[in-house]
Amino acid sequence: MRASQYFISTLKEAPADAEVVSQKLMLRAGFIRKVAAGIYSYLPIGLRVIRKVEEIVREEMNRAGALELTMPMVQPSELWAETGRWEKMGEEMLRFKDRHERDFALQPTSEEVVTDIARQELKSYRQLPKNFYQIQTKFRDERRPRFGVMRGREFTMKDAYSFDRNVDAAGRSYDAMYAAYCRIFDRLGLTYRAVAADTGAIGGDRSHEFQVIADTGEDAIVYCPDSDYAANIELAEALPLLGSRAAPMHGLEKTPTPGAATCADVAKLLGLPLATTVKSLVLATDDVDEKGKPAGVTVWLLLVRGDHALNEVKASKVEGLKAGFRFATEAEIHEHFGCKPGYLGPIGMKKPVKVVADRTVANMSDFICGANDEDYHYTGANWGRDLPEPDLVADLRNVIEGDPSPDGKGRLAIQRGIEVGHVFYLGTKYSKAMNATFLDEDGKPKHFEMGCYGIGVTRILGAAIEQNNDARGIIWPDALAPFRIVVCPVGWGKSEAVRSEALKLYEGLLAAGVDAILDDRDERPGVMFADWELIGVPHRVVIGERGLKEGLAEYQGRRDAEATKVAIGDLAGFVA
Ligand code: ATP
Ligand code: MG
Ligand code: MG
Ligand code: MG
Repeated sequence: MRASQYFISTLKEAPADAEVVSQKLMLRAGFIRKVAAGIYSYLPIGLRVIRKVEEIVREEMNRAGALELTMPMVQPSELWAETGRWEKMGEEMLRFKDRHERDFALQPTSEEVVTDIARQELKSYRQLPKNFYQIQTKFRDERRPRFGVMRGREFTMKDAYSFDRNVDAAGRSYDAMYAAYCRIFDRLGLTYRAVAADTGAIGGDRSHEFQVIADTGEDAIVYCPDSDYAANIELAEALPLLGSRAAPMHGLEKTPTPGAATCADVAKLLGLPLATTVKSLVLATDDVDEKGKPAGVTVWLLLVRGDHALNEVKASKVEGLKAGFRFATEAEIHEHFGCKPGYLGPIGMKKPVKVVADRTVANMSDFICGANDEDYHYTGANWGRDLPEPDLVADLRNVIEGDPSPDGKGRLAIQRGIEVGHVFYLGTKYSKAMNATFLDEDGKPKHFEMGCYGIGVTRILGAAIEQNNDARGIIWPDALAPFRIVVCPVGWGKSEAVRSEALKLYEGLLAAGVDAILDDRDERPGVMFADWELIGVPHRVVIGERGLKEGLAEYQGRRDAEATKVAIGDLAGFVA
């Protein structure tokens, strides 16, 4: 590529609303332009990076035996109704009607459509296993899109879905995807960790998130540097750990009202050694029926150490609780927490929660922060207006860092991460809901055992930049760089010798299959260098008249402090 014919559009300053470094740099380097909240155009140079990610993902998915297809962006409500998710998906799913008044949604994920394909096409066990994947646009109407492409509303995801005969075979499909994900993130050159994640209603231990380590990450990871132990903090395994160190609580004995569950009751029920750490609990639900009435029960425990509210953890959905307990009233909750309603703000919510009280509070935040109906997320900055955003990681560091790890092999450490991938064993949840069966060897119909596997293709760009940048701009890992090397001639317009040598080098690189760009814009060196450093091209060769006289060019890696003089003939070895 020749820069004069390409499109480079760098900015001195990032727009004022850009929050994190990757977002600022992607805007300044001309990779993306914002169209609406969470919705971006990818300019040519940004799209090159997307394509690099996609190619690595595609190669490794194909190598693992997955088959690429593509499913529609626009999906009919009927399929989503079969699994009950037309109702359950909530506001993240963008819905609309066509001209015939039929309901549709933009796909936030594609379990329904792929299961529909499977039930129509996969008739026999002989056709199994199968793993279908797509690299497609997703739309999630995120409550708070932010951090540029890291939490967009429109974004590209690689989503794969496996279909197997039985649980063992599904385990093998899961393991194959886990291994493929490790290869993908290795090849992308990212520092990451695979962490155990919540399996929700499915149960079991087959859910892992791939987290890119970065201080701006929205997730908190508990891990052990000396062993394989690593978990998303949401995973309940961390609860006993918190319990083991937290100080005894005052007021624990205090039961809000006769008949309401005590903290100790709940801890016992959940089999957790929490009795000494739970100051209070809130019985709440995030499930509502079609009339908006709460259904099902979720127990939220408030963990405290001393007077320091640590975190609120969704412990479990315990159906049995319904029988023995009633819900605390709003007034009791206030009373029991022994504080002004605003105090609850910093504890936060991972997702919207309906508090079940005598009167149904529309939303936890209603009584946490007073007036509005928005829902509150732990990591959102959208807290009650006057409450600071809590620092969960700092809290965790105070309380459990250095404790023995659950596997007994070392001590715990805490990190922030960005979820770039997620592998999940689904069991027969969708195949049963949609009656998707195949005929097994014994001639009987069986439900498919399924798994789903996502990678945030566009989020990876942000995550990679969060890990690789300096004051001058982006530092792409080679595998992701829009161009691997830039040839910068000094005096392009003036010197025939510079021109011909630069062209020769550039063409040689292309012939050797190296993704090179030649900066033939005839700009001053300072302008050229600033652009390519901002854009993050990992290798640079400068050709100037003075050096040429001695047969020398200057090579500088993006992380190098200074340039190295290299004989022009030796450049190939330097760059390859
Ligand atoms: P998060 O917890 O960040 O909201 P998620 O758990 O909802 O993500 P999944 O349903 O597991 O996301 O989707 C698979 C992958 O898609 C995620 O691991 C992430 O990399 C990516 N992804 C999810 N939501 C977004 C988004 N709003 N913008 C960009 N990428 C996203
Ligand atoms: Mg999400
Ligand atoms: Mg997640
Ligand atoms: Mg996820």
